[in-house]
Amino acid sequence: MEALITVLPGDGIGPEVAAAGRAVLERIAERHGHRFKFSEQLIGGAAIDAIGEPLPDGTVASCKDSNAVLLGAVGGPKWSDPNAPVRPEQGLLGLRSVLGVFANLRPVTVYPELAAASPIRAEILEGVDIVVVRELTGGIYFGEKSRDEFSASDICKYHTHEIERIVRVAAQLASGRRGKVCSVDKANVLETSRLWREVTDRLMAAEFPGIELETLLVDAAAMHLLSRPADFDVMVTENMFGDILTDEASMLAGSLGMLPSASLGETRRGLFEPIHGSAPDIAGKGIANPCGTIASVAMLLRHSFGLAEEADAVEQAIARVIADGCRTADIATADGQTLSTSEMTAAIIGKLG
Ligand code: NAD
Repeated sequence: MEALITVLPGDGIGPEVAAAGRAVLERIAERHGHRFKFSEQLIGGAAIDAIGEPLPDGTVASCKDSNAVLLGAVGGPKWSDPNAPVRPEQGLLGLRSVLGVFANLRPVTVYPELAAASPIRAEILEGVDIVVVRELTGGIYFGEKSRDEFSASDICKYHTHEIERIVRVAAQLASGRRGKVCSVDKANVLETSRLWREVTDRLMAAEFPGIELETLLVDAAAMHLLSRPADFDVMVTENMFGDILTDEASMLAGSLGMLPSASLGETRRGLFEPIHGSAPDIAGKGIANPCGTIASVAMLLRHSFGLAEEADAVEQAIARVIADGCRTADIATADGQTLSTSEMTAAIIGKLG
């Protein structure tokens, strides 16, 4: 197939991991006879430095013209002055909004060989295979904000249709997996959560009677995610709860650097990125773990291009290098040798043949 992919390296370790993702895509194209064209564009702090805004028009145009978008990460201390007129994160929030990608899929896969890298006991991690489906373009991150000298507010708002479409994504995903959805809210306190629960209960009963529905309050969910993670199949929740729970879930996998994400809307074009940030503490050192970005490339191949075989090949390549004992610093054992970002990427590409 022929496809155009916009690559947005961003800030910090973003360019290092995005280069790894691109290298994997180039090898997949070569091995499987596809023609992938790449358009590299600015976003975040790098765009603020270059032209004074975090989401240039040229970036938006390129993303809209593309079949898929691969992003590294944005942000960092250089641009974190709270009084700054523009911030890198506005670039990412704006991009998600203009692309209409309302569903953020975050799979949490635990490689048995990495159990020691997780702070959770190995027996609790056995069989963990979760996809968190996070609502991405609504809720408190996008609501009206206000600020005066002594107070501030952020409005959290959800419409019925925003809840329905994200719950449908979760239920459809569960029907191809273990058939279980856990909806997470805070219905004992928040009005938006009471609407979330009503809509979810109604939609699941009407459209997905064969899917098992569990409902948890977010505080309990945070606890159950660590005490019985293997029980969960698909978890669905609103924007902010999903943001927090997925970082927590990353500890099951051993490192933030392992986990991918896909942000999808009504069309096949998606935005694919690792769940981690720009990691300023390790930026420029060449030691970032590229696995989360490379696993995001697998999601890109599957969801935007329908290339399931190629996606499986990438995921198996990651699993095989982990099984071989290849480790970046974030998942290393005390006595083990560690690989740089480019060495780990080369090892994964080597498994693609
Ligand atoms: P972070 O995810 O950047 O880093 C948290 C910790 O995890 C750090 O110790 C870091 O070194 C480590 N880490 C993250 N990714 C890694 C990888 N691939 N390999 C090895 N170690 C890795 O979170 P933070 O420090 O809270 O945020 C740093 C900046 O990133 C902030 O400006 C924040 O706003 C931004 N951020 C951006 C995104 C995004 O672009 N999607 C997401 C989260 C945070």
